Amino acid sequence: MKRKDFLKLLAAAPLAACTMKLNELSGITDQLPKTDKMPAFFIGHGSPTNAIEDNPFTQSLTALGKSLSKYELPKAILVVSAHWLTKGTFVDVSANPKTIHDFGGFQKELYEIQYPSPGSPEMAKEAAKLLEVAHESTDWGLDHGTWTLLKYIYPKADIPVFQVSIDYNKPMSYHLELAKKLAELRSKGVIILGSGNVVHNLRYSIGQMQMGKSAPADWALEFDKYVRQAVCDYDTDALVNYSKAGSSSQLAVPTPDHYIPLLYTMGVGDKSENMDIFYEQVEFGGISMQSFQIG
Ligand code: ZN
Repeated sequence: MKRKDFLKLLAAAPLAACTMKLNELSGITDQLPKTDKMPAFFIGHGSPTNAIEDNPFTQSLTALGKSLSKYELPKAILVVSAHWLTKGTFVDVSANPKTIHDFGGFQKELYEIQYPSPGSPEMAKEAAKLLEVAHESTDWGLDHGTWTLLKYIYPKADIPVFQVSIDYNKPMSYHLELAKKLAELRSKGVIILGSGNVVHNLRYSIGQMQMGKSAPADWALEFDKYVRQAVCDYDTDALVNYSKAGSSSQLAVPTPDHYIPLLYTMGVGDKSENMDIFYEQVEFGGISMQSFQIG
């Protein structure tokens, strides 16, 4: 299939493309020439224990990593993680970002994992310049929102990685607009990854786990579906104003930390691009692992 025909196919059936799974899509995209524009991702990271588990989610990340061979080797990966919340926006310009074990009470094995990828001071400084409002920092590194995913996607840790923080005092619209300034980095070899969770009610989920329950809550499924539709339609207004989903939004997003990274991913893409929701599951009753690729 020619690229032009493929694009026509996508344009004719945007929703079908949205539901297409990676393994179905790879058969088509394998025939396409390598592209210079890097994809963008939003990935639900869920529990830190995913870093040491072989499960359908981590398997989907391994498959994702393999599918990326159709792109040129990325120059860097820019990550906006739910776990770096700041007053103001910071970009980590470290040459060798440290692996941060920013969680408590898990098995020893998790604290021993290192993700020794280099940083990318050059690209990080360029990102800071594009963002205008950002400050350079060497105080962070790679938190578990980053390395628990990249461990599977790029297991050799040979691609430079740097994080951009979330200015937690700002409204949703601010994050979407700020992200747009980073979009051009995709044409300079930078993969952009938002790492959070569409639905993230930790208190509810821990309660369910303690009772030995794992069935998805109705409100979690409802909000997950609302976001899925908005992502498929590239309806950024619906995503910025997520309270329009109704009462489910209050339980699904009790605090916006894990939701905001999704706005960075949407901000660096646009409606004309391929959208692929490659993983969907609500875990522990109230954590959605919905993950998608743009481009
Ligand atoms: Zn998290």
